[in-house]
Amino acid sequence: SENHLFSAIRAAIPSLDKPLATLADGRVETYGDALALSARLAGLLVARGVKPGDRVAVQVEKSWPALALYLAAVRAGAVYLPLNTAYTLNEVEYFLTDAEPTVFVCRPEIEAEARALATRLGVPCVETLSTDGTGSLTEAATAFPTTFADVPRGPEDLGGILYTSGTTGRAKGAMLTHANLLSNAQTLKDYWRFTADDVLLHALPIFHTHGLFVASNIILLSGASMVFRSKFDPKEALQLMSEGKVTSLMGVPTFYTRLLDQPGLTREATAKMRLFVSGSAPLLAETHRAFRERTGHAILERYGMTETGMNTSNPYDGERIAGTVGLPLPGINVRVTDPETGAALAVGEIGMIEVKGPNVFKGYWRMPEKTASEFHDGFFITGDLGKIDETGYVHIVGRGKDLVITGGFNVYPKEVEGEIDAIPGVVESAVIGVPHPDFGEGVTAVVVLEKGAALTEDAVHKALENRLAKFKQPKRVFFVSELPRNTMGKVQKNVLRDTYKDIYR
Ligand code: ATP
Ligand code: MG
Repeated sequence: SENHLFSAIRAAIPSLDKPLATLADGRVETYGDALALSARLAGLLVARGVKPGDRVAVQVEKSWPALALYLAAVRAGAVYLPLNTAYTLNEVEYFLTDAEPTVFVCRPEIEAEARALATRLGVPCVETLSTDGTGSLTEAATAFPTTFADVPRGPEDLGGILYTSGTTGRAKGAMLTHANLLSNAQTLKDYWRFTADDVLLHALPIFHTHGLFVASNIILLSGASMVFRSKFDPKEALQLMSEGKVTSLMGVPTFYTRLLDQPGLTREATAKMRLFVSGSAPLLAETHRAFRERTGHAILERYGMTETGMNTSNPYDGERIAGTVGLPLPGINVRVTDPETGAALAVGEIGMIEVKGPNVFKGYWRMPEKTASEFHDGFFITGDLGKIDETGYVHIVGRGKDLVITGGFNVYPKEVEGEIDAIPGVVESAVIGVPHPDFGEGVTAVVVLEKGAALTEDAVHKALENRLAKFKQPKRVFFVSELPRNTMGKVQKNVLRDTYKDIYR
């Protein structure tokens, strides 16, 4: 019997000597290398006591063996559990306690502390893996054969647990099945027309759904190749593009703003590129337009989350509309409901985005009540507010938890932030609601200014006077040097709400 996800990956291999990843030092790792190294690592995991369904927790820098380790865990029938490298050992303690892995693979620098922690928590085995691919994991793996009989796994078995980014509260473990991962990657591969001729510039972290399940799985299922980098370097990216060494890029919005900062970003430099994809955070319509003007390419924005993989995407052939996240992907149902009553809303009305499809996760790890409360008639309640327009395009207006209700009126922070960001001298802003004795919540703006900009609170109020209805205008404006962000670079509005909670009292 098959290993649902890995059998599909195996079947897509064009030939063993086809390059899968070109590394920073110029080394080329082939599909054959990936099979051999993941076989050795899978053999090692099994020898270390990993049984089907056991968790393999991994907190390491991005590297070729780290990618092979993901494949090894899948082949061994384990549940792969990658952790953001920015988490401190104190934070890792929560994840290890929650997930109870059989093996924890960590960076060599924290080996001593990790071992002490593992002993305390009863995690049986610790291995190390460094950026350059050395460590106890790869050393021990050399003793195992380059072939491995994949452990059978069905579509409903777990392939991974991914913790959410922790933007709205404590990170939750999303249980993703083999069917979730395979169906989403296959859908995206077809929708975005990936073929064996593609070379993806892969510069995203592989502990997050974007870099791991979207980027890596699509490439594997296409039999394509990637230029595999631990960081995004816009100068190098431009060089790779202009030399025709890559055909596609998947990035977070900051990749695109950083590319726009490069004078070398031109039509000529990007002429050989087939596709630019953006996601994980809202791409400003402004960035989309500027990029199109400079390069002629319309960035393809898509929308998803840890719990579901990707739900919507701008079309490959049709119009990629700035400020929208496109259409529901094939086989995925997206609807908008009234957050109070749960009733379906009409076209153009803003409400809660809910999704249903083979991509939707099995639930939060060991949180049955939380899981039950986030589903509504079989639809997953995403927590994001948005609307579907008359042409079927989905627009995200922000997170439900960030909605401001002031004097009974709903204020969508994104709209107010857009107006503030357009004021000369403003770099970015975050609009939050904080307790207000008369209005319930008071609209409050936290603004980052450009160096040397002399904008005052009064000047911001003036600038917004004729731009926004009175109830949407911030009651107070605060200036800060930077907005608090979590390790995925997302603005933490809960932190801001806490900072400013007493200002109207
Ligand atoms: P947590 O659930 O722990 O609070 P998180 O929601 O930030 O953290 P992720 O699963 O990494 O964790 O992020 C998914 C969220 O990212 C989505 O729910 C949505 O709010 C946002 N997002 C992703 N893509 C887009 C996009 N294209 N436009 C706007 N928002 C997006
Ligand atoms: Mg979330």
